[in-house]
Amino acid sequence: MLNTLRKIVQEVNAAKDLKAALGIIVQRVKETMGTQVCSVYLLDPESNRFVLMATDGLNKRSIGKVSMAPNEGLVGLVGTREEPLNLENASEHPRYRYFAETGEERYASFLGSPIIHHRRVMGVLVVQQKERRQFDEGEEAFLVTMSAQLAGVIAHAEATGSIRGLGKQGKGIQEAKFVGVPGSPGAAIGTAMVMLPPADLEVVPDKSVADIDAELQLFQSALEGVRADMRSLSERMATQLRPEERALFDVYQMMLEDAALGNEVVKVIKTGQWAQGALRHVVSEHINRFELMDDAYLRERASDVRDLGRRLLAYLQQARQQTLVYPDNCILVAEELSPAMLGEVPEGKLVGLVSVQGSGNSHVAIFARAMGIPTVMGAVELPYSKIDGIQLIVDGYHGEVFTNPSEILRKQYADVVEEDRQLTKGLDALRALPCETLDGHHMPLWVNTGLLADVVRAQERGAEGVGLYRTEVPFMIKDRFPSEKEQLAIYREQLAAFHPLPVTMRTLDVGGDKALSYFPIKEDNPFLGWRGIRVTLDHPEIFLVQVRAMLKASEGLDNLRILLPMISGIQELEESLHLIHRAWGEVRDEGTDVPLPPIGVMIEIPAAVYQTRDLARQVDFLSVGSNDLTQYLLAVDRNNPRVADLYDFLHPAVLQALTKVVEDAHAEGKPVSICGEMAGDPAAAVLLMAMGFDCLSMNATNLPKVKWLLRQISMGKAKDLLSQVMRIDNPQVIHSTLQLALRNLGLGRMINPASDIQA
Ligand code: PEP
Ligand code: MG
Repeated sequence: MLNTLRKIVQEVNAAKDLKAALGIIVQRVKETMGTQVCSVYLLDPESNRFVLMATDGLNKRSIGKVSMAPNEGLVGLVGTREEPLNLENASEHPRYRYFAETGEERYASFLGSPIIHHRRVMGVLVVQQKERRQFDEGEEAFLVTMSAQLAGVIAHAEATGSIRGLGKQGKGIQEAKFVGVPGSPGAAIGTAMVMLPPADLEVVPDKSVADIDAELQLFQSALEGVRADMRSLSERMATQLRPEERALFDVYQMMLEDAALGNEVVKVIKTGQWAQGALRHVVSEHINRFELMDDAYLRERASDVRDLGRRLLAYLQQARQQTLVYPDNCILVAEELSPAMLGEVPEGKLVGLVSVQGSGNSHVAIFARAMGIPTVMGAVELPYSKIDGIQLIVDGYHGEVFTNPSEILRKQYADVVEEDRQLTKGLDALRALPCETLDGHHMPLWVNTGLLADVVRAQERGAEGVGLYRTEVPFMIKDRFPSEKEQLAIYREQLAAFHPLPVTMRTLDVGGDKALSYFPIKEDNPFLGWRGIRVTLDHPEIFLVQVRAMLKASEGLDNLRILLPMISGIQELEESLHLIHRAWGEVRDEGTDVPLPPIGVMIEIPAAVYQTRDLARQVDFLSVGSNDLTQYLLAVDRNNPRVADLYDFLHPAVLQALTKVVEDAHAEGKPVSICGEMAGDPAAAVLLMAMGFDCLSMNATNLPKVKWLLRQISMGKAKDLLSQVMRIDNPQVIHSTLQLALRNLGLGRMINPASDIQA
């Protein structure tokens, strides 16, 4: 059965459109089950009727004509009950309804199974037979399994059809929504520009050549061409990124070096293979190696190699990058966006990014955040190759993409974009104002940084400090561990840029979905595995070097704070403190005169929530990582689009945990901040302030909005709202209560306009 299923699904997947897919389904299921009829009915959302869309056995002329409401007929019954129905004699059932045009009166037995995708009933799959008989358990199981497998395929084919405005019945379906994960906040409306691979390396054949020197010559000039392209791309990004951050382009350059990829290709050419074949050979070997490692970061490296391979091939084929015309308000879409692609769009045209692969921690998302470009990552169901030139909306707040948006939705998002623009325009005025509530409560707003480019944006927005400097970011854009000296220079720049404001540097937090190419970690369950402090405690040489670099960098500035990630208990904290003291002793012995900086712990694992008081006693401050805390409390992967709607930092369990952390930290007399994405959500920020957080740290993009809102509300009102919300047990009701309350205060539009749209 499994084999048959697999074959059918494969065949259906390869079908050119929905109609063909349904045709294959009915034919193959009928054959396999040996029935006389197999039909598919799909639920038309506009008319809310199950429409006969394909049949093998019934009268084909009734296709598209016969339909029934959910409360009509056996098909309607299967659809509404969301359960299979197995009848020996269908006509005896009270819900039986006879459609003369189908000719189904001849068939006695009926087996129907609902087709459900992500909880949505899409249709019903039916088989019928002349003789009166009950279908057996095996047959029922087959049909149910088939329906479950087909649901995704049908949903995909339907969405692809809707992209070009062709719905299941040829009618224009205007809008389709594709869920991914947030990559960089903000919203954008624009025209999709799909970056397809310029050349397909995989289909290059092998070919022997006699004139090896000519091939070598050809390859050398391709190398030169790509090198020059990379240089000019890097230069073009010079205004937006600092030299250190453009180091990724150096990695590309290095891969091209004679000793690396280039040299290997040359070796294969010397065996008599033509340059294109040699390139395919070497590149695919590298990709396979990376992909086999099954590691998020290394998969990204595989995509770097793939990207380079395609660029070289384009030169070899002399199909140099054709002059592309980038539309205004360009939304770049690719299966795997690379930072290099960002640089290719002429300045001022790029408004949004969508990547089918990747997560919020992919390189391209890190760059996009630093550049302030709304981005959605991991939109896995988006049929990206079919959307070039169509209108798109990118909602980087929620990680959603809309194709062919309706006028109404466009208008709503246009308001979001305009309000964001107004806010940015008013930044100068807002920057100078304190973040103070109507009744005089001061709420310090800090920023999260990673790249140096973040510093400029943070300063433009009037941040009062850095609540989280993710040190793994400079590690991730290098291709080896940075030395103590290199780290010192990077950290010094961060500290100096904000001086005298405090900068909270988190020790290396790799693992999970943040891996280093030069330090691969392969695990089945990386978020529950070797991450954060677990890695650095096992490698004191990495930890000590990093802390020494931080301490030395702070000499004379004294605005450093050190933060420890992923602490799950006292033992890890004590070991970390021991190492920090050791590093401090060492640097002072070496003549660097620095005080011991304040040390803090991240509360991002449920175990830490319950040990807040024990942890607080031993440190100077606490900082909640709401991204991980939400993920671990709710057991929802923060990067998995399939469960994105379950990932909710306003879940009552999360709110209760946060309240506890604040109370317990304060009971020990220690300040507590929060540095996950939640702090940057204006409505959530109101609650966090009311809970008593001493500081909110967020991405620079959201800071002005949070400041704006907190300046419009009183602490008294915020506390009322919090106590109202804390009595609610349902996340959805919490969302709507919060929105309603803020709207009643006249603050609805500005809070997070995109969340209004979602509601
Ligand atoms: C968090 O988990 O909330 C956090 C701030 O850390 P990161 O997102 O880097 O894991
Ligand atoms: Mg975290």
